[in-house]
Amino acid sequence: MPENWLIRQVCLENYTAPMDIAIRDGKVKEIGKNLDGEGCQIVNGSGMMASPLFIDPHHHLDCAFLNEPPNLSGTLEEAIHINAQLKANRSDADVYEKACRALNLALYNGTGWVRSHTDIDSISKLKLLHPIVEAKEKFRRLVDVQIVAFPQLGVVADPQSVDLIQQAMQEGAEIVGGMPHAEASLEDAAKHIELLFRIAEKFNADIDMHVDETDDPASRTLELLAEATLKHCYQGRVTAGHCCALASYPDDYASQVIEKVAMAQINIVTNPLVNLYLQGRQDRQPVRRGITRVKQLLQAGVNVTCGSDDIANLFFPFGRMDMLEIAMIPSVVSHLPRPEEIQTAVNMPRDWAARTLNLLDYGIIPGASANLVLLAATNAQEALQLQPAQRIVFRNGALVSN
Ligand SMILES: [Zn+2]
Repeated sequence: MPENWLIRQVCLENYTAPMDIAIRDGKVKEIGKNLDGEGCQIVNGSGMMASPLFIDPHHHLDCAFLNEPPNLSGTLEEAIHINAQLKANRSDADVYEKACRALNLALYNGTGWVRSHTDIDSISKLKLLHPIVEAKEKFRRLVDVQIVAFPQLGVVADPQSVDLIQQAMQEGAEIVGGMPHAEASLEDAAKHIELLFRIAEKFNADIDMHVDETDDPASRTLELLAEATLKHCYQGRVTAGHCCALASYPDDYASQVIEKVAMAQINIVTNPLVNLYLQGRQDRQPVRRGITRVKQLLQAGVNVTCGSDDIANLFFPFGRMDMLEIAMIPSVVSHLPRPEEIQTAVNMPRDWAARTLNLLDYGIIPGASANLVLLAATNAQEALQLQPAQRIVFRNGALVSN
């Protein structure tokens, strides 16, 4: 039985005065003043802000809440090392339960979509994929999950991954992942990218790779990915996560790479909290922030968004699956002070991530599916400032959390 709702008096970003939102049969039917509420359940918005549901474009549900034994050095290398020891022996129930816990938090905080990278390699094979597919099914139409098949150990260094990724694409994964900087040389990184493009083309799938997640300025695989994207005519279908090394490159080389990224229409995902936490570990003062060149990428017209990456695990001991928390960090760390830049930061895990995830039905507009969250704030800047705890979440026209 569809729920019909009238949400009274909410602030919307494109309107100057509070408006009512009528929801019928799962869709936004109308936005206006003093709408008729007959036959509807009424929510008094009392001037709260109505935002489209958030999108988390980069997460790892397969290692959510995996934090024993602890990562004492706090480095990415130790996290990967401990995870490698644990992942082959984890039970399906453990992976499933922890993934569901993370997705419940995402829902509670007003996130409607999560793109999740799942390790596929000679250690874990498809072991982590199956419980993640199960969690995806459980949350369908609440938090929709896109699964990326992620060869974390490389595909030249770990050749079994090539077949496993293809198997994963037939068993629930829909996006081809990658991590070219995991290979032993730039030559192998280029082979890595080429092999994964071929798999993506075979399955007509988008690509989302972990790229240069290191401070090392010699890690130059983003340029290789941009060149491969142009060569394969995959413009707009490729996403690069992290891209930390871009921040360490000399300015002239960085500008050259950004130009190619823009030409290839690569979406960039920064994972600001985790990058801040894991990068710069070898530096003495000043310690690099590890976050990619967000401002420069934006200025070049690149679609930049931000992701949570991890929650309470070996890679990052904190996190709440709250995209409002994540969105605040680029405004602080990447120096985005102007009102329109703050608005951009809020849009990163919304409209811009919708482009990354290819979501066509997105936004609070008549005719669109009613996917929105009410926040105790009057505008985007205030939402970032106050980080309001109360979230009233509508998904496909139903009240799913409040
Ligand atoms: Zn990641």
